[in-house]
Amino acid sequence: MSIVPSSTQVLVIGGGPAGSTAATLLVREGFDVTLLEREVFPRYHIGESLLPAALEIFDLLGVREKVEAHGFQHKPGAHIDWNSEGWNVKFERLNENQTYSFQVRRDEFDQLLLEHAKSQGVKVFEGTEIKSVSFEGDRPRSATWSQTVGDRNTGEVSFDFLIDASGRAGVMATQYLKNRHFPSTFQNIATWGYWKNAERLPDGFDGA
Ligand SMILES: Cc1cc2nc3c(=O)[nH]c(=O)nc-3n(C[C@H](O)[C@H](O)[C@H](O)COP(=O)(O)OP(=O)(O)OC[C@H]3O[C@@H](n4cnc5c(N)ncnc54)[C@H](O)[C@@H]3O)c2cc1C
Repeated sequence: MSIVPSSTQVLVIGGGPAGSTAATLLVREGFDVTLLEREVFPRYHIGESLLPAALEIFDLLGVREKVEAHGFQHKPGAHIDWNSEGWNVKFERLNENQTYSFQVRRDEFDQLLLEHAKSQGVKVFEGTEIKSVSFEGDRPRSATWSQTVGDRNTGEVSFDFLIDASGRAGVMATQYLKNRHFPSTFQNIATWGYWKNAERLPDGFDGA
C-alpha cells in the first residue's frame, strides 16, 4: 500500500457517495485531493434507491456512462401502497428530462464512484481511518490516520481544506463541533429489511 502524503490541499474523510463526489469535483477543477476511507471497498451500506436528480450529478462527475454500463436496475418511478390506497409515482410526469433513476447495490455503487475518483486523480487510501484532527485556532489544519488493515501504519497529514464526509460517524460534528442534535419535532427512526422470493404488488408497474 502506498503511503499517505504528509500534506495535501484538500483532505476528504470518507469514501461514500458524498466523499467521492466532492473529491472528484475538486480534482477535476485542478485541486490536489487526498481521500482517506476507513473500510476496504466493496463494503456493505444501506440506502439503495436513487432519485432522478442523481443523473445531473453523474454528468458533472463524468461518471454517467460507467453507471449506465454497470447494469443497475432501472427505476422509472415508485409505487406506494398504504392500507387500501395506492399511488403510482412516475418520474416522467415530474420532470421530462429526468425520467428514470436506478436501484443500486451500495457496495457496488460506492466502489464504482470511488474507483472513478481514483481515475480522475484523487489520491485514495482505503483501510485508513482518521483518528484525530488538530486545529490552529478555529481552523482544522492536520489529521492523524491509522491503517485498519495490513501493516497498521500511522501518520499525520496537513491540509488547507477539510471535507468531512464520514457519514453517520460525523468526525467533525461529533468529536469537535458537537453540533449534531436530534431535532425535537422530527422524531423519526429508520429501519430496514430484505426479503427473498417476494411477489410484486399487483398494482405496481414494471421497475417500480
Ligand atoms: C434505513 C435507511 C435507508 C436509506 N435508504 C436510502 C435510499 O433508499 N436512498 C438514498 O438515497 N438514501 C438512503 N438512505 C440514506 C443514505 O444511506 C445516506 O444518505 C448516504 O449513505 C450518505 O452518504 P455519505 O457519503 O454521506 O455517507 P456514507 O455512505 O456513510 O459514507 C461515509 C464513509 O465514511 C467512512 N468513515 C467514517 N468514519 C471515518 C473515519 N474516521 N476515517 C475514514 N473514513 C471514515 C465510512 O467507512 C463510510 O464509508 C438510507 C438510510 C437509512 C438509515
